[in-house]
Amino acid sequence: LQPHQKELWGQPIGLYILFLTEMWERFSYYGMRALLVLYMTTQTIGDDRGAGLGWSDQEALALYGWYTMLVYVMSIPGGMIADKLIGQKKAVLLGAIVLCLGHGVLVLTDIWAFYTGLGLVILGVGLLKPNISTMVGGLYKEGDIRRDKGFSIFYIGINLGSLLATMIVGLVVAEWGWHAGFGLAGVVMLLGLINYIIGQKYLTQVGNFEPPKKDDTNEISYGKLYGKLFKSPMQLVFTFILLAASLYGWYALEWGYGLLFVFLTAVTSLLMMIYKELNSQVYKDRFMVLLLSFIMVIVFWGAFEQAGGLMNLYTESKVDRVLFGWEIPTVMFQSLNAGFIIIFATLIASIWAKRKLKGKEGSSIFKMAIGIIIMGFGFLFMVFAAMEFEKSGTSSMIWLVLAYLFHTIGELCLSPVALSFITKLTPVKYASLMMGVYFAATGLGSKVAGIVGEAASDFGEYAIFLGILIFTVIIGSLFIMILKPLKRLTHGAEDNEREMH
Ligand code: GLN
Repeated sequence: LQPHQKELWGQPIGLYILFLTEMWERFSYYGMRALLVLYMTTQTIGDDRGAGLGWSDQEALALYGWYTMLVYVMSIPGGMIADKLIGQKKAVLLGAIVLCLGHGVLVLTDIWAFYTGLGLVILGVGLLKPNISTMVGGLYKEGDIRRDKGFSIFYIGINLGSLLATMIVGLVVAEWGWHAGFGLAGVVMLLGLINYIIGQKYLTQVGNFEPPKKDDTNEISYGKLYGKLFKSPMQLVFTFILLAASLYGWYALEWGYGLLFVFLTAVTSLLMMIYKELNSQVYKDRFMVLLLSFIMVIVFWGAFEQAGGLMNLYTESKVDRVLFGWEIPTVMFQSLNAGFIIIFATLIASIWAKRKLKGKEGSSIFKMAIGIIIMGFGFLFMVFAAMEFEKSGTSSMIWLVLAYLFHTIGELCLSPVALSFITKLTPVKYASLMMGVYFAATGLGSKVAGIVGEAASDFGEYAIFLGILIFTVIIGSLFIMILKPLKRLTHGAEDNEREMH
């Protein structure tokens, strides 16, 4: 809903400001993430890099799993704060400041500093990540065909940050130690903050808080929504069932799961209430479509995130990594994803846009389903790798490269598309919340990935890779089968996209 904005290379200039801010933020996030497990498991006596925490692998991986999930789950309160209290623009600013503090605290060597720093990073990402993504959507008017491409460009920023981080942070740590690595993440985040502040003049139209109008009967607070829960017996019963399941999770698993489930129960109830409150059938239907599409999101990340876990371990122990007499370090394979994104992002976005202009199928749901299937097919190469390993005791790295290539193409069909889709389907007043729910779904997916990956020690890699391949292809195909009714439920949200400038 934007009036005329200054443009550069066919996109609003604000996009490049958000691109750079997110690039630095992701540098700090992925740079720190790359160090985390290694720092926790290094002995307390220390090596050249200084003392670590001396934890067992299992302890370190457990904290890592919770951490990587919580950063995304916190996007829900982060989104709510923006929607209801301060707007996205200020939430991003606040998040960036909290992130600088968090990384700054991690420079200290005390254990309290470690936990405090991680806590601050979780809060900071929660405030920044969903809201900066919603702001990208805010740069475009409804129906502007540049929106999807804008998100793809934004996605390149994300991956540029992660690529630089994975290349540079390791070197800094090897030279100056762990806390210099954490410090670098802090400095880089500071660059992001400065860049965001300087760029404000290009963001005047977007992410502003709109206080509810006094006479707007549709405006409703989250508190009031929860109050309404008690007036609706069906929903109350449903919430109690979820709560009971949560308590069982607490009892049967770990307390952490219990807390998480209780939190998710609260969110689910809220979503049910919002659904009821939406004042038109169009919005209600779109809301349903969005929630259904989040099933794809969880499945997608549940498979995709094997990259950092099972596939990483597989690379380390079973792949022949020698190229021209040089053994490629395992971690370098993690950069393939980001590298492929930078190469292919605009290409894929243009292919979809061209299809759409020609009137061929190019809805977000379709792209996301195709994305899951393509990513799933990547696992076919991992199946080949496992077969080769069984025969010859080693497997070629070409399988891995092909797998990551397919994973990345799949990611490009799903991830930036989903971000864009959310900004098309959600009424403005809930936009950040829904973005938060999306990121929480990706976080849950990552947790699922960890659980599936662990199962490989019982079933073997071959079975797990094959299982993921079959499951993802089935889910993607199912969504293609119900594409027509789903599209009908979006009430033409994507039908009239066109060039607008
Ligand atoms: N790699 C992407 C990012 O860092 C997507 C992560 C996600 O959606 N969970 O933004």
